[in-house]
Amino acid sequence: MADFLQPQTLHAALEARAAHPDYLPIAGCTDVMVGFSHQAQPTGFIDLFGLAEIQGICADDGHISIGAATTYGDILKDPLVYESFPVLSEAIREIGAVQIQERGTLGGNLGTCSPVGDTLPVLLALDAQVHVASSKRGSRLVPINDFIVGYRKNALAEDELIVEIKMPLAPEGTQQYWRKVGTRRAQSISKLMMCVVGRLNGKDVEHIRIALGAVAAAPMRVEKTEAVLAGQALHEETILAAQDTLASEITPIDDVRSSAVYRKEVACNLLGRFLNDLGGA
Ligand SMILES: Cc1cc2nc3c(=O)[nH]c(=O)nc-3n(C[C@H](O)[C@H](O)[C@H](O)COP(=O)(O)OP(=O)(O)OC[C@H]3O[C@@H](n4cnc5c(N)ncnc54)[C@H](O)[C@@H]3O)c2cc1C
Repeated sequence: MADFLQPQTLHAALEARAAHPDYLPIAGCTDVMVGFSHQAQPTGFIDLFGLAEIQGICADDGHISIGAATTYGDILKDPLVYESFPVLSEAIREIGAVQIQERGTLGGNLGTCSPVGDTLPVLLALDAQVHVASSKRGSRLVPINDFIVGYRKNALAEDELIVEIKMPLAPEGTQQYWRKVGTRRAQSISKLMMCVVGRLNGKDVEHIRIALGAVAAAPMRVEKTEAVLAGQALHEETILAAQDTLASEITPIDDVRSSAVYRKEVACNLLGRFLNDLGGA
């Protein structure tokens, strides 16, 4: 029978993590539970669900921070998040359904680091940083782009836990766009997701972040496509050039949910729509 630890403080959780690198941290358990039927069980679990120190949402120093063990349900209830990062609220509203939203956590989505993790393109486009901690080595802030390192793989060390996710507040005039393409509006694994965050100065693109999921082994920012747009006037030719670059930058696959051809075409169409909206915003 697996050991089950329920630390009551972050310090105790980090000590447990360092003492038992073979134990699996769990939060809402909505991802971990699915693996119970077909994956080898760890020797023990470190339960983080409800751990107050890594729950909750706060604003400080030009950022909004969301504790790793904050449930989607709690994030959705927070007006601060909706007002500052509507794309995060929109993405969360389509995760699973209400039951999953009441258990699943933002930290769990990062822990699993799936190519179809819906919050990950949003966090990439918002330039989030992941605050991680170890009892021996202290804390570090990892830019989300460096935190996601490959297929279901993140940069978390064996003795670290995710503590919170920090997102910088965007300057006035920044627009945000999100779309999840799936078979339904709920309980649907994404065929593709895209998040665009951008700001114009007159007609010129002053800031642009474009991130996608389900088009490569891991959620990704398409930096070559961003480079085509950065500093350029946003008109039809620029948008077409960005769509061309996007088509060569992503490497979707055929699988049970969709085809590579469909994913590529939809990604380019969505980019065109978002950029046109940004231009007309
Ligand atoms: C029916 C169903 C529908 C779903 N629909 C969607 C969907 O639409 N979109 C989507 O993106 N996902 C979906 N999921 C997947 C899942 O709900 C999310 O990935 C969720 O965010 C996982 O959070 P959790 O707290 O349950 O993580 P857990 O299952 O508890 O943990 C997941 C992983 O993260 C690690 N982990 C958790 N917290 C921490 C921490 N603080 N520090 C270090 N590691 C940690 C765990 O060790 C584990 O590896 C669905 C799952 C189910 C069962």
